[in-house]
Amino acid sequence: NRRFVLASRPKGEPDANTLRLETVDVPVPGPGQMLLRTEFLSLDPYMRGRMSDAKSYAASVEIDAVMVGGTVARVVRSNLDAFSEGDWVLSFNGWQDYALSDGTGVTSLGREPAHPSWALGIMGMPGFTAWAGLTQIGKPKPGETICVAAATGPVGATVGQIGKILGCRVIGVAGGADKCAYAVKDLGFDACLDHKADDFAAQLKAATPDGIDVYYENVGGKVLDAVIPQLNTGARMPVCGLVSQYNATSLPEGPDRMNWLMGQILRKQLTVRGFIIFNDFAPLYPEFAKAMGAWIGAGKIVYREEIIDGLEAAPEAFIGLLKGENFGKRVIRVGST
Ligand code: NDP
Repeated sequence: NRRFVLASRPKGEPDANTLRLETVDVPVPGPGQMLLRTEFLSLDPYMRGRMSDAKSYAASVEIDAVMVGGTVARVVRSNLDAFSEGDWVLSFNGWQDYALSDGTGVTSLGREPAHPSWALGIMGMPGFTAWAGLTQIGKPKPGETICVAAATGPVGATVGQIGKILGCRVIGVAGGADKCAYAVKDLGFDACLDHKADDFAAQLKAATPDGIDVYYENVGGKVLDAVIPQLNTGARMPVCGLVSQYNATSLPEGPDRMNWLMGQILRKQLTVRGFIIFNDFAPLYPEFAKAMGAWIGAGKIVYREEIIDGLEAAPEAFIGLLKGENFGKRVIRVGST
């Protein structure tokens, strides 16, 4: 049983010393337990927060403890009535080959799911996050303009496609020409801008002549700076993530614009609301799953995964995710199935 444990808390970007690969015996399930073998491990930006000991909405991973993570797994042996050998499940095994579970928080995916790894993306946490933040906080009306960054990732791509289904104009922001071309051609966004361009703010202004009504905040930083002047009176901002800041070790240099921002919120009567998906919206998951299942069935949603083979590749793949090296939902294929 190979597993990655947190070896040290990163200062800035995680590096080769952050996680340590260990090999231990495969655990044996006792009464009321089952043994799960990880097939797919999800890599998600929130994992950077768990490596830190700063106070947050969820507990940090302890030093020497297995790194946390959502997984799709198969039941190897079960002493539980609700799960049998061979079942596919959505679980929280973390970064390891095998894990014991008493079934708490484990969801069955049946015997032969068509796309098991989708439970970590479009049909799971990121897809639900996109849908809930957009519909419950963004509340877009047909004809309005939505802006979303990390536009080709699992959250951003879903936000934009739902925005189009709801009759909005959607402006994406992504890193590089290939991602932007994909957002327009494959995802159906009206436009997509490269945040690395020197004149990004001017491009955003030109692309949003009627302003922005919903800014789905995934990244913060320069994108947020460029968006705020474009926000319309009454605009909504679901604050989902600030991935450009996750490796930051200090606040950016002044001038202090805190009061300028509050002035914008006041004068434009903005709604700015942060949310943590399962804390805020867990009861809505069935509604999301029904809507998303129907859209996928009707061919209205495109979903891109980037599957990387081998548990040992996970640390580097995770470091790259925070820098935009992923193109689509990054998943590690741990098992051989
Ligand atoms: P992605 O797969 O989209 O990966 C993150 C992306 O962020 C990168 O690919 C990169 O895309 C972009 N990025 C990185 N650095 C910068 C930067 N400096 N400026 C602009 N963009 C940058 O991630 P997810 O779709 O899984 O997650 C998107 C956001 O949603 C994250 O902030 C995450 O923390 C948040 N989230 C929040 C949840 C909640 O409950 N609140 C739940 C799930 C996710 P590119 O190359 O295009 O710039």
